Amino acid sequence: MRLVSTRNAGNTVGALEGVLKGIADDGGLFVPETFPQISRECIEEIGGMTYAQAAARVLGFYFEMDPEELLAMTTAAYENFDDARVTPMKKLGKREFVLELFHGPTLAFKDMALQLLPRLMGAALAENGGKEDVLILTATSGDTGKAALEGFKDVPRTKIAVFYPEEGVSSMQKLQMVTQGGENTYVCAVRGNFDDAQTGVKQVFADPQMAEKVREKGYVFSSANSINFGRLAPQIVYYIYAYARLVRAGEVRMGDEVNITVPTGNFGNILAAYYAKRMGLPVAKLICASNKNNVLTDFFDSGRYVTNRMFFKTMSPSMDILISSNLERLLFEVTERNAKYIEELMQTLKNEGQYSMDGSYQRLMAEEFYADFADDVRTMRTIRRIYKNYGYLMDPHTAVAQTVYEDYMTRTGDRKPSITVSTASPFKFVQDVLFAVNGERIEDPFDAAIKLSAVTGIPLPAQIASLKDAPVRFADCVDKDGLSDVILHML
Ligand SMILES: *Cc1c(COP(=O)(O)O)cnc(C)c1O
Repeated sequence: MRLVSTRNAGNTVGALEGVLKGIADDGGLFVPETFPQISRECIEEIGGMTYAQAAARVLGFYFEMDPEELLAMTTAAYENFDDARVTPMKKLGKREFVLELFHGPTLAFKDMALQLLPRLMGAALAENGGKEDVLILTATSGDTGKAALEGFKDVPRTKIAVFYPEEGVSSMQKLQMVTQGGENTYVCAVRGNFDDAQTGVKQVFADPQMAEKVREKGYVFSSANSINFGRLAPQIVYYIYAYARLVRAGEVRMGDEVNITVPTGNFGNILAAYYAKRMGLPVAKLICASNKNNVLTDFFDSGRYVTNRMFFKTMSPSMDILISSNLERLLFEVTERNAKYIEELMQTLKNEGQYSMDGSYQRLMAEEFYADFADDVRTMRTIRRIYKNYGYLMDPHTAVAQTVYEDYMTRTGDRKPSITVSTASPFKFVQDVLFAVNGERIEDPFDAAIKLSAVTGIPLPAQIASLKDAPVRFADCVDKDGLSDVILHML
């Protein structure tokens, strides 16, 4: 499958090459040239597969690789998950399911893609035969960083540098990153919020002199952020797999539509659900759930994307984002791939911090998407209520989605089967979850985790327990304009 740029549909690359490049030369994002169609027979087959088999099957539509090689990759990527089903589902209401995507090594859904991405890059390096190694630069709102570090740790021919907002991640997220092992890893704080960290990384990517200096040292840049098609493609898999499993379990009739609710930040995860729908998966509404940084809610309501607004720190920090990079891919589809128009919108966003969509496009989007948000108070109440009513413990990101889904149902009466995506383990945001469950405030993340485990009877995840005595390896902190220096120093 070829990939095309959202800013110039004539600019195409092979899928693996696109994974290696990360972003198109014209600044656009790579998207598939067409959406392969998945038949009912295929969905039925997938329902009987293991996750690794399903992943190889779906990814085979996009990556022209030897099926055996692809299966070996997906098998290796998902064998370290702490649940053999990889993405288990929990049933809450009669037709309501929670799709758990946090059983990987870093306890957040980013592992679903980032355990596989380094392997895809390895295949891409072998394919392109270039001499340079890859230098991964990543800005993180907390979960991407750790997942990328784990994915790329000690992978031959790669180095990885992760930049996180100094005050913008949970204490457990920070601990996970600064104690990261591996010979090829580097972690650094950036003064400011996630958008500052992301801007800093984008500046480095856009600086030709920097690219030249890095090349002299034998590296080419790439990105592990969700703008990379190699992040997006693996995320399509679990939507198809979840549907196929529900059909097989007799919970959904083949062909019946489901609603999918996704807690959203950079618009990557929900975009993957949209891609699954475009591939033919029977999906009705895609419900886009935000926290108080509700720039996407306003966008779907008004057609105006406005980033000049207050930034809030919330208890769902992985969604504390004002610039949702992947939205560009949706706009590309909604405008029937009008690359010129997208280019203009993105220029306006860059220069003026906002843009407006034509009203007809807004109506098209409203047919497919429903968007709303939940603030911390309501999120906290949802965690408590769901735990009380179902004995089920949600992390704050998942609880944002649950709250928005319940509002949607109340407002519309839509009772189609529903999949709510759970993106993180509650132990990753442990102080807030503990407070929600029993009103107790414990600042130390380990003490809080031990208490949460005692209160709920849920075992402390090994991924957390192992951090307790891990030494801190990274203490650097820079301004957003200072990334180039530390990167060159690292090399
Ligand atoms: C990254 C992340 C999100 C947001 O996902 P996007 O793909 O950026 O929309 C939601 N929840 C958690 C726990 C995350 O780590």
